[in-house]
Amino acid sequence: MKIDGKTRTCGLIGNPVEHTLSPLIHNNLAQMTGKNMVYVPFLVQNDNVEEAVKGAYALHIMGMNVTVPHKSAVIEHCVSLDPLAEKIGAVNTLVSVEGGYRGYNTDMTGLLRAMQTEEIYVKDETVLLLGAGGAARAVAFLCVSEGAKKVYLCNRTLEKAQQVAEEVNKAFATDCIVPISYDMICTITEDRLLAIQGTSVGLHPNTDNTPLADGAIYDKIHTGVDLIYRPVETKFMKLVKAHGGKTMNGLKMLLYQGIIAYELWNDVTIDNVQAEEILQKMKEEMEIHE
Ligand code: NAP
Repeated sequence: MKIDGKTRTCGLIGNPVEHTLSPLIHNNLAQMTGKNMVYVPFLVQNDNVEEAVKGAYALHIMGMNVTVPHKSAVIEHCVSLDPLAEKIGAVNTLVSVEGGYRGYNTDMTGLLRAMQTEEIYVKDETVLLLGAGGAARAVAFLCVSEGAKKVYLCNRTLEKAQQVAEEVNKAFATDCIVPISYDMICTITEDRLLAIQGTSVGLHPNTDNTPLADGAIYDKIHTGVDLIYRPVETKFMKLVKAHGGKTMNGLKMLLYQGIIAYELWNDVTIDNVQAEEILQKMKEEMEIHE
């Protein structure tokens, strides 16, 4: 990589940022597409989000990714918002425009594109969505905007599921999100489900855990998507597979949220072959041998 007077900078703000794979994604994309661009992580404390965004713009930083815990806090410092990001209430990508940054949510468009590469579609599906935290909440918005027939939003804390369901249903003037707790799973009458695992249960190092205990519900799951990518096969995925379902982990979601941000910053399109090359580099970095 050659850094010179014309090199443009992009970066990531969050806390912590040390373990991020985003520099690997973006610096390899820059090399692959011949862009004179460098991508670096910036540790930003909670109280400094405004200064960080304003400072980045003053430094002509072309674009930024935003990670935990700043995805909501950054919104008030954007000059405009993409409608999906506005609806979800979370921004993970800033794109430099006249007067500041426009905020996008490429986590969700990334998940959608990742699922499409695996031929997994949300339209007309009955979805069993596990979790009601930041990620699951955004997935709930995505499911409704992509035309899911019904979404059972299942969470350990039922009140949180009810709150998210109310918010999403209101945003789309629908009643398609149905909040439930794990002990209400047996009330699901549909027999074909797309399950999306959006809790932190099963994440490394607690790889023997799953939020959804083994049982008859797994016979109804034709496809199980886990947002977790470490381990590459979670306990939830193993159970879906054991009951004859198809599975996907969260690594491609991570890849495509990066790719879509890169496309927004550089006005290019990354094709599936290029995406696959970056995916292999991510697997090498994570020492995933399949
Ligand atoms: P979060 O806001 O902290 O939410 C955590 C969720 O997990 C809540 O619904 C919580 O339920 C549930 N939970 C925690 N412990 C539980 C337990 N013992 N039993 C049942 N449910 C439990 O986290 P998040 O930001 O939404 O992230 C969730 C997961 O998505 C993480 O594993 C993260 O790695 C993954 N993720 C992946 C990507 C990607 O690019 N692939 C992007 C974003 C997130 P309560 O409400 O009851 O506490």
